Amino acid sequence: MVDPLDRRGVEAVKQRKSLRLKQRNEGNNVRRTRIVATVGPASDSDEVLRGLVEAGVDVFRLSFAHGDIPSGIERLRRIRAIAPDLAIMVDIPGPKIRAGSFGTLPVTLSIGDEIQLDEAFDEPSTTERITVQRVGVLALLKVGDKIHLGDGGVSLDVVRSGSTVSARVSSGGAVMGKPGLSLPSSILNDRLPTDDDRARLEALRHEAFEILAVSFVRSAFDMVSTRTVLARDDVMMMAKIETGEGVANLDEIIAVSDAIMVARGDLGVRMPIEEVPHLQKEIVFHGVRYARPVVVATQMLESMTHAQVPTRAEVTDVANAVLDGASAVMLSGETAIGDDPIGTVRTMDRIVRRAEESFDYFKWGSGLGVQEVVGGVGTRAMRITAAITGAAWRAAMEEKAVAIVACTRSGMTARAISRFRPPMPIVAITPSEATARQLRSSWGVQEIFISPSNDIDELCDFSIAQLKKAGMAKPGDPVVIMAGSATGGAQITDTVRMIIVS
Ligand code: PEP
Repeated sequence: MVDPLDRRGVEAVKQRKSLRLKQRNEGNNVRRTRIVATVGPASDSDEVLRGLVEAGVDVFRLSFAHGDIPSGIERLRRIRAIAPDLAIMVDIPGPKIRAGSFGTLPVTLSIGDEIQLDEAFDEPSTTERITVQRVGVLALLKVGDKIHLGDGGVSLDVVRSGSTVSARVSSGGAVMGKPGLSLPSSILNDRLPTDDDRARLEALRHEAFEILAVSFVRSAFDMVSTRTVLARDDVMMMAKIETGEGVANLDEIIAVSDAIMVARGDLGVRMPIEEVPHLQKEIVFHGVRYARPVVVATQMLESMTHAQVPTRAEVTDVANAVLDGASAVMLSGETAIGDDPIGTVRTMDRIVRRAEESFDYFKWGSGLGVQEVVGGVGTRAMRITAAITGAAWRAAMEEKAVAIVACTRSGMTARAISRFRPPMPIVAITPSEATARQLRSSWGVQEIFISPSNDIDELCDFSIAQLKKAGMAKPGDPVVIMAGSATGGAQITDTVRMIIVS
C-alpha cells in the first residue's frame, strides 16, 4: 500500500512525464507487453494454473529439460484444456546438461568444498556428490576447467579428472532443483537438434502447442534443421540466444526464426556478465527490426521465488525491459518452483503496466527504420505488408484512431504493426485459431477474433461490428484496417483503410 501523501508524489511524477510524452497509451487499460510463465511443480495444479491465467499470463512455458517426456505431455494437455486461448511454449534443452535434483529447498555449496561428479540418471545431487545427467562428458574434462551451476552464481574448478572427477567450489551459494551445468563450450559441440531433442520433437509431433523454444542456437543452420525435424507450419520457432556464437550470428538466426528469446541465464554464464544488459538491448533491437516477438527472460523477479516483495533492482529490470521494447517478459523459477507463482505474476503485471505509462509510443514508432525482410519466396509480399503497416501506423497516429485492425492469416501483418508499438489497441482478425493463439506472444495484440470471411468489405464490416461489441469503438471513432484485396493475391496485405465508425 502506498501512503496517500506518497501517492501525491507518484501522481506528480506521472503528470510531469505526461507533459513530455507526445502520445501516451491513454485510456487503454490493457497491458501490452506479454507475460510468459514457466510451469513447474509449484504451478502444476489446475487451481494454480487457473489463478495464473486470471493474474494475466499470456504464454505458458513448459521446459522439456526437466522430467520425462510422457509427464511433460500430460502437463501440456492439461494446460491446453485449462487455457485454450493462450499460447503454449515448449522449450527443448539442446545440449544443456542438468545436475540431478538438489531437492526443492536451497542447499548451500561453500567455497573450498570438494565435490565428486558422477554420470548418473535419476539420482539426486548432494553437497558431496553432483550427479550429471549425460553420458560421456565427464571424461572430457581437464584439471582447471570451470563448471557453472544454475545461472552462474555457483562455480567449481575441476581438481581431479579421469575415471573419478571432482571439483572444488570457487564461488559458493545456494542451489536447488535440477540446475543446469555449464561445461566449457568445447565439450558442447553437438549439432541441433540433439538426439534428446529429436526424441522430444517426435513425441510432440501431434500435440497442440504454438511456440517451440530452441536452446543453445548457434547458427541459422541449427534453427533450420530443428524446423525440418519438427516439420510443422503451425508452430513458431523461437531461437534462444544464450551463447557467444548465437550473438555473433544474430542476424542470420533471426532471419530464419519466428521469434527470439534473450536467455540471460546462460548468456550471463557464457559471455562476460557485464555484457548482458547491452546484449539485451541489441537483441531486442534486432528482433524489432525483423518484426519478431522478443522475450526477455531469466531472473526478472528471482528473489520472489521465496520473498513476497521483489528487490528494487528487479523491479527496475522488468520496467527497463519494457522500455527497451521487449514483446514479453518471462518468469522461470519464480513460477515453476516459487512460493507464490500467482502473486509473482500479479507483481510483474503491475510493474509492466506502470512502465507502459512512461513508454514514449510516438518516439518509438517514428524512430523505427524500415522492416528487415529476408530473401526467398514471399519476400515481395512481406515488403508490401511492411510498407502498408508503416502507412497504417502513420494514419492511426495522425487521426488518433481508436484501434488498428490487422486482418491476418499467418499473423505476419499483426506482428509487423506490433513492432511500431502503437498507443492504440491492435486487433487481429484471423481465420486460424493457431495464429490467434500464437499472437498471444506479440506485443499489444489486444483482441483477436476469428473471421468468417476473406472478402475485404466483409472483413471491414466484421471488424467494426466486433470493435463496437467489445466497447472499443463508437460512432464517429476512426479505425484503421489493414487487409489483403482480392486482386493483391493471397498472403499480401496490400490495403489500408481509415473507417469512421457509423
Ligand atoms: C536462460 O538460460 O536464460 C533460459 C531461459 O534457459 P533455461 O531456463 O532453459 O535454462
